[in-house]
Amino acid sequence: MQYVIVGAGPAGVTAAETLRKVDPAGSVTLVGNEPDPPYGRMAIPYLLIGKVDEQGTYLRKSDDHFENLGITYVQGEAKSVSPDKLVLNDGEDLAYDKLLVATGSHAIKPPVDGLDLPGVHHCWTLEDGRAIARLAVEGADVVLMGAGFIGCIIMEALAQSGANLTVVEAEDRMVPRMMDQTAGNLIKQWCEKKNVAVRTSARVSEVSRDGDKLSVKVDNGDIIAADLVVVATGVRSNVKFLEGSGVETDLGIKVDNTLKSSIDNIYAAGDVAQGPDFST
Ligand SMILES: Cc1cc2nc3c(=O)[nH]c(=O)nc-3n(C[C@H](O)[C@H](O)[C@H](O)COP(=O)(O)OP(=O)(O)OC[C@H]3O[C@@H](n4cnc5c(N)ncnc54)[C@H](O)[C@@H]3O)c2cc1C
Repeated sequence: MQYVIVGAGPAGVTAAETLRKVDPAGSVTLVGNEPDPPYGRMAIPYLLIGKVDEQGTYLRKSDDHFENLGITYVQGEAKSVSPDKLVLNDGEDLAYDKLLVATGSHAIKPPVDGLDLPGVHHCWTLEDGRAIARLAVEGADVVLMGAGFIGCIIMEALAQSGANLTVVEAEDRMVPRMMDQTAGNLIKQWCEKKNVAVRTSARVSEVSRDGDKLSVKVDNGDIIAADLVVVATGVRSNVKFLEGSGVETDLGIKVDNTLKSSIDNIYAAGDVAQGPDFST
Protein backbone atom coordinates (compact mmCIF):
# COMPACT_ATOMS: atom_id res chain seq x y z
CA MET A 1 0.00 0.00 0.00
CA GLN A 2 1.30 3.46 -0.89
CA TYR A 3 0.29 6.18 1.55
CA VAL A 4 0.97 9.85 0.82
CA ILE A 5 0.37 12.49 3.47
CA VAL A 6 0.43 16.12 2.47
CA GLY A 7 1.13 18.65 5.24
CA ALA A 8 3.80 18.08 7.88
CA GLY A 9 2.24 19.73 10.92
CA PRO A 10 1.10 17.81 14.02
CA ALA A 11 -1.71 16.02 12.13
CA GLY A 12 0.47 14.91 9.20
CA VAL A 13 3.43 13.84 11.32
CA THR A 14 1.27 11.84 13.75
CA ALA A 15 -0.58 10.20 10.85
CA ALA A 16 2.68 9.18 9.13
CA GLU A 17 4.04 7.61 12.32
CA THR A 18 0.76 5.84 13.04
CA LEU A 19 0.57 4.42 9.52
CA ARG A 20 4.11 3.13 9.89
CA LYS A 21 3.06 1.32 13.09
CA VAL A 22 -0.12 -0.23 11.72
CA ASP A 23 1.31 -1.11 8.30
CA PRO A 24 5.02 -1.86 8.70
CA ALA A 25 5.33 -2.97 5.06
CA GLY A 26 3.53 0.01 3.51
CA SER A 27 5.25 2.89 1.76
CA VAL A 28 4.71 6.14 3.70
CA THR A 29 5.59 9.53 2.17
CA LEU A 30 5.15 12.80 4.06
CA VAL A 31 5.16 16.07 2.09
CA GLY A 32 5.84 19.39 3.83
CA ASN A 33 6.15 22.81 2.21
CA GLU A 34 7.81 24.80 4.99
CA PRO A 35 11.55 25.49 5.02
CA ASP A 36 11.90 24.43 8.67
CA PRO A 37 11.67 20.89 10.06
CA PRO A 38 8.11 20.01 11.15
CA TYR A 39 7.22 22.19 14.14
CA GLY A 40 4.24 22.97 16.36
CA ARG A 41 2.69 26.40 15.96
CA MET A 42 1.49 26.19 19.55
CA ALA A 43 5.13 26.40 20.68
CA ILE A 44 5.65 29.80 19.00
CA PRO A 45 4.43 31.78 22.06
CA TYR A 46 7.06 29.96 24.17
CA LEU A 47 9.68 30.92 21.58
CA LEU A 48 8.58 34.56 21.87
CA ILE A 49 9.17 34.60 25.63
CA GLY A 50 12.43 32.66 25.36
CA LYS A 51 11.08 29.59 27.16
CA VAL A 52 12.15 27.38 24.25
CA ASP A 53 14.61 27.89 21.41
CA GLU A 54 13.71 27.07 17.80
CA GLN A 55 14.61 23.42 18.29
CA GLY A 56 12.12 23.35 21.13
CA THR A 57 9.33 24.04 18.64
CA TYR A 58 10.26 21.03 16.48
CA LEU A 59 7.80 18.15 16.64
CA ARG A 60 10.58 15.56 16.42
CA LYS A 61 14.06 16.15 17.70
CA SER A 62 16.46 14.21 15.48
CA ASP A 63 17.32 15.00 11.84
CA ASP A 64 17.01 11.34 10.85
CA HIS A 65 13.74 10.67 12.72
CA PHE A 66 11.64 9.98 9.61
CA GLU A 67 14.40 8.11 7.81
CA ASN A 68 14.80 5.82 10.84
CA LEU A 69 11.09 5.01 10.70
CA GLY A 70 11.22 4.32 6.97
CA ILE A 71 9.09 7.38 6.22
CA THR A 72 10.11 9.34 3.12
CA TYR A 73 10.05 13.06 3.86
CA VAL A 74 9.64 15.22 0.76
CA GLN A 75 10.11 18.97 0.89
CA GLY A 76 7.59 20.30 -1.61
CA GLU A 77 4.30 22.01 -2.20
CA ALA A 78 1.25 20.12 -3.46
CA LYS A 79 -0.12 21.77 -6.60
CA SER A 80 -2.93 19.42 -7.63
CA VAL A 81 -4.48 16.03 -6.97
CA SER A 82 -5.69 13.41 -9.43
CA PRO A 83 -7.35 10.09 -8.49
CA ASP A 84 -4.02 8.29 -8.03
CA LYS A 85 -1.30 10.90 -7.74
CA LEU A 86 -0.32 14.08 -5.96
CA VAL A 87 1.45 16.60 -8.17
CA LEU A 88 4.03 18.91 -6.61
CA ASN A 89 4.98 22.43 -7.69
CA ASP A 90 8.32 21.25 -9.06
CA GLY A 91 6.49 18.81 -11.37
CA GLU A 92 7.23 15.68 -9.29
CA ASP A 93 4.36 13.14 -9.12
CA LEU A 94 3.73 11.03 -6.02
CA ALA A 95 1.56 7.98 -6.74
CA TYR A 96 -0.76 6.94 -3.92
CA ASP A 97 -3.31 4.29 -3.02
CA LYS A 98 -4.50 6.44 -0.11
CA LEU A 99 -3.94 10.17 0.35
CA LEU A 100 -4.28 12.06 3.62
CA VAL A 101 -4.62 15.84 3.39
CA ALA A 102 -3.34 17.55 6.55
CA THR A 103 -2.51 20.97 5.14
CA GLY A 104 -3.94 23.05 7.99
CA SER A 105 -4.81 26.67 7.37
CA HIS A 106 -3.14 30.02 6.74
CA ALA A 107 -3.61 33.34 8.48
CA ILE A 108 -5.65 35.94 6.60
CA LYS A 109 -5.57 39.72 6.59
CA PRO A 110 -8.67 41.90 6.64
CA PRO A 111 -8.96 44.50 3.87
CA VAL A 112 -7.12 47.27 5.72
CA ASP A 113 -4.55 49.54 4.04
CA GLY A 114 -0.99 49.18 5.30
CA LEU A 115 -1.00 45.55 6.44
CA ASP A 116 1.80 44.77 3.97
CA LEU A 117 4.18 47.30 5.55
CA PRO A 118 7.40 46.16 7.23
CA GLY A 119 6.71 45.71 10.93
CA VAL A 120 3.27 44.15 10.35
CA HIS A 121 3.22 40.39 10.87
CA HIS A 122 0.97 37.43 11.42
CA CYS A 123 1.94 35.07 14.21
CA TRP A 124 1.38 31.84 12.31
CA THR A 125 4.71 30.43 11.10
CA LEU A 126 8.09 30.01 12.70
CA GLU A 127 9.32 32.77 10.37
CA ASP A 128 6.61 35.07 11.78
CA GLY A 129 7.76 34.11 15.29
CA ARG A 130 11.35 35.12 14.48
CA ALA A 131 10.23 38.51 13.12
CA ILE A 132 8.02 39.19 16.14
CA ALA A 133 10.73 38.15 18.61
CA ARG A 134 13.06 40.74 17.02
CA LEU A 135 10.52 43.56 17.41
CA ALA A 136 8.56 42.74 20.59
CA VAL A 137 11.26 43.84 22.99
CA GLU A 138 10.99 45.56 26.38
CA GLY A 139 9.46 49.01 25.94
CA ALA A 140 8.42 48.50 22.29
CA ASP A 141 4.94 49.66 21.30
CA VAL A 142 2.92 46.74 19.97
CA VAL A 143 -0.61 46.60 18.58
CA LEU A 144 -2.35 43.24 18.36
CA MET A 145 -5.30 43.07 15.95
CA GLY A 146 -7.75 40.40 17.06
CA ALA A 147 -8.52 38.96 20.49
CA GLY A 148 -9.81 35.55 19.43
CA PHE A 149 -8.45 32.25 20.77
CA ILE A 150 -5.13 32.47 18.90
CA GLY A 151 -4.88 36.25 19.41
CA CYS A 152 -5.18 35.83 23.17
CA ILE A 153 -2.51 33.12 23.27
CA ILE A 154 -0.17 35.46 21.39
CA MET A 155 -1.22 38.34 23.66
CA GLU A 156 -0.04 36.53 26.77
CA ALA A 157 3.43 36.06 25.26
CA LEU A 158 3.60 39.65 23.98
CA ALA A 159 2.57 40.98 27.40
CA GLN A 160 5.36 38.98 29.05
CA SER A 161 7.93 40.43 26.64
CA GLY A 162 7.70 43.79 28.43
CA ALA A 163 6.28 45.53 25.36
CA ASN A 164 3.54 48.19 25.71
CA LEU A 165 0.66 46.26 24.29
CA THR A 166 -2.67 47.45 22.90
CA VAL A 167 -5.23 44.90 21.73
CA VAL A 168 -7.88 45.97 19.21
CA GLU A 169 -10.89 43.65 18.83
CA ALA A 170 -13.76 44.35 16.44
CA GLU A 171 -16.37 42.48 18.49
CA ASP A 172 -17.77 43.75 21.79
CA ARG A 173 -15.74 41.35 23.96
CA MET A 174 -12.58 39.30 24.02
CA VAL A 175 -12.56 35.72 22.63
CA PRO A 176 -16.03 36.47 21.21
CA ARG A 177 -16.60 33.08 19.55
CA MET A 178 -15.95 31.18 22.78
CA MET A 179 -16.88 33.53 25.63
CA ASP A 180 -20.10 35.29 26.55
CA GLN A 181 -20.13 38.94 27.61
CA THR A 182 -19.41 38.19 31.28
CA ALA A 183 -16.45 35.90 30.59
CA GLY A 184 -15.11 38.17 27.83
CA ASN A 185 -15.24 41.15 30.19
CA LEU A 186 -13.45 39.22 32.94
CA ILE A 187 -10.61 38.50 30.50
CA LYS A 188 -10.55 42.18 29.55
CA GLN A 189 -10.26 43.21 33.22
CA TRP A 190 -7.50 40.67 33.77
CA CYS A 191 -5.60 42.11 30.78
CA GLU A 192 -5.99 45.67 32.00
CA LYS A 193 -4.59 44.66 35.40
CA LYS A 194 -1.53 43.38 33.51
CA ASN A 195 -1.21 46.81 31.81
CA VAL A 196 -2.50 45.57 28.47
CA ALA A 197 -4.74 48.22 26.89
CA VAL A 198 -7.84 46.63 25.35
CA ARG A 199 -10.13 48.31 22.80
CA THR A 200 -13.26 46.26 22.06
CA SER A 201 -15.92 47.21 19.46
CA ALA A 202 -13.05 48.87 17.60
CA ARG A 203 -11.48 48.15 14.22
CA VAL A 204 -8.12 49.09 12.83
CA SER A 205 -8.96 51.15 9.73
CA GLU A 206 -5.47 51.92 8.42
CA VAL A 207 -1.80 51.34 9.17
CA SER A 208 0.79 53.73 7.78
CA ARG A 209 4.44 54.49 8.39
CA ASP A 210 5.30 57.66 10.25
CA GLY A 211 9.10 57.95 10.40
CA ASP A 212 10.51 55.13 12.54
CA LYS A 213 7.08 54.14 13.80
CA LEU A 214 3.92 52.65 12.40
CA SER A 215 0.77 54.66 12.92
CA VAL A 216 -2.34 52.58 13.61
CA LYS A 217 -5.64 54.32 13.00
CA VAL A 218 -8.61 52.87 14.90
CA ASP A 219 -12.23 53.62 13.95
CA ASN A 220 -12.97 54.89 17.48
CA GLY A 221 -10.70 57.85 16.74
CA ASP A 222 -7.54 56.51 18.42
CA ILE A 223 -4.22 56.75 16.61
CA ILE A 224 -1.62 54.44 18.15
CA ALA A 225 2.12 54.60 17.43
CA ALA A 226 3.63 51.13 17.07
CA ASP A 227 6.93 49.38 16.43
CA LEU A 228 5.08 46.17 15.63
CA VAL A 229 1.56 45.26 14.53
CA VAL A 230 0.50 41.63 14.89
CA VAL A 231 -2.48 40.55 12.81
CA ALA A 232 -4.50 37.69 14.36
CA THR A 233 -7.81 38.15 12.62
CA GLY A 234 -8.56 34.64 11.42
CA VAL A 235 -7.46 31.78 9.21
CA ARG A 236 -8.57 29.97 6.06
CA SER A 237 -8.09 26.30 5.17
CA ASN A 238 -5.34 25.32 2.71
CA VAL A 239 -7.49 23.59 0.10
CA LYS A 240 -6.75 25.49 -3.11
CA PHE A 241 -4.65 22.69 -4.60
CA LEU A 242 -7.71 20.38 -4.39
CA GLU A 243 -9.63 22.38 -7.00
CA GLY A 244 -10.75 20.05 -9.77
CA SER A 245 -10.04 16.93 -7.66
CA GLY A 246 -13.68 16.27 -6.79
CA VAL A 247 -12.93 16.56 -3.05
CA GLU A 248 -15.85 18.45 -1.52
CA THR A 249 -14.91 21.48 0.55
CA ASP A 250 -16.81 24.02 2.58
CA LEU A 251 -14.87 25.87 5.33
CA GLY A 252 -12.49 22.91 5.17
CA ILE A 253 -12.52 19.44 3.59
CA LYS A 254 -15.83 17.78 4.37
CA VAL A 255 -15.18 14.41 6.03
CA ASP A 256 -17.34 11.65 7.51
CA ASN A 257 -16.70 10.22 10.95
CA THR A 258 -13.86 8.06 9.59
CA LEU A 259 -12.17 11.23 8.22
CA LYS A 260 -12.93 10.12 4.65
CA SER A 261 -13.62 12.88 2.15
CA SER A 262 -16.13 12.73 -0.70
CA ILE A 263 -13.51 10.71 -2.63
CA ASP A 264 -13.05 7.12 -1.43
CA ASN A 265 -9.25 7.03 -1.09
CA ILE A 266 -8.72 10.63 0.07
CA TYR A 267 -8.88 11.50 3.76
CA ALA A 268 -8.35 14.70 5.74
CA ALA A 269 -7.20 15.38 9.31
CA GLY A 270 -6.28 18.28 11.56
CA ASP A 271 -7.32 21.89 11.05
CA VAL A 272 -8.18 21.37 7.37
CA ALA A 273 -10.83 18.72 8.11
CA GLN A 274 -14.43 19.77 8.61
CA GLY A 275 -16.24 17.03 10.48
CA PRO A 276 -19.95 16.28 10.61
CA ASP A 277 -21.95 18.52 12.92
CA PHE A 278 -23.49 16.16 15.48
CA SER A 279 -25.47 18.80 17.34
CA THR A 280 -27.71 20.40 14.69
C1 LIG B 1 0.64 31.04 17.92
C2 LIG B 1 -0.28 29.84 17.96
C3 LIG B 1 -0.58 29.23 19.16
C4 LIG B 1 -1.44 28.13 19.19
N1 LIG B 1 -1.72 27.55 20.39
C5 LIG B 1 -2.58 26.53 20.44
C6 LIG B 1 -2.93 25.93 21.69
O1 LIG B 1 -2.44 26.34 22.74
N2 LIG B 1 -3.80 24.89 21.68
C7 LIG B 1 -4.35 24.42 20.51
O2 LIG B 1 -5.14 23.48 20.54
N3 LIG B 1 -4.03 24.96 19.32
C8 LIG B 1 -3.17 26.00 19.26
N4 LIG B 1 -2.86 26.55 18.05
C9 LIG B 1 -3.46 25.98 16.83
C10 LIG B 1 -2.65 24.75 16.39
O3 LIG B 1 -1.32 25.16 16.16
C11 LIG B 1 -3.27 24.14 15.14
O4 LIG B 1 -4.57 23.67 15.48
C12 LIG B 1 -2.41 22.97 14.64
O5 LIG B 1 -1.16 23.44 14.21
C13 LIG B 1 -3.11 22.25 13.49
O6 LIG B 1 -2.28 21.22 13.05
P1 LIG B 1 -2.37 20.71 11.54
O7 LIG B 1 -1.32 19.66 11.43
O8 LIG B 1 -3.77 20.40 11.19
O9 LIG B 1 -2.00 21.99 10.65
P2 LIG B 1 -0.68 22.87 10.58
O10 LIG B 1 0.05 22.88 11.88
O11 LIG B 1 -1.11 24.19 10.03
O12 LIG B 1 0.24 22.12 9.54
C14 LIG B 1 -0.11 22.02 8.18
C15 LIG B 1 1.16 22.01 7.36
O13 LIG B 1 0.81 21.77 6.00
C16 LIG B 1 1.57 22.64 5.18
N5 LIG B 1 0.92 22.82 3.87
C17 LIG B 1 -0.11 23.63 3.56
N6 LIG B 1 -0.40 23.55 2.25
C18 LIG B 1 0.48 22.68 1.72
C19 LIG B 1 0.70 22.20 0.40
N7 LIG B 1 -0.06 22.58 -0.65
N8 LIG B 1 1.71 21.31 0.19
C20 LIG B 1 2.49 20.89 1.23
N9 LIG B 1 2.32 21.31 2.50
C21 LIG B 1 1.32 22.20 2.74
C22 LIG B 1 1.59 23.92 6.00
O14 LIG B 1 2.59 24.83 5.56
C23 LIG B 1 1.90 23.34 7.37
O15 LIG B 1 3.27 23.12 7.54
C24 LIG B 1 -1.99 27.64 17.98
C25 LIG B 1 -1.68 28.26 16.76
C26 LIG B 1 -0.83 29.34 16.74
C27 LIG B 1 -0.51 30.01 15.43
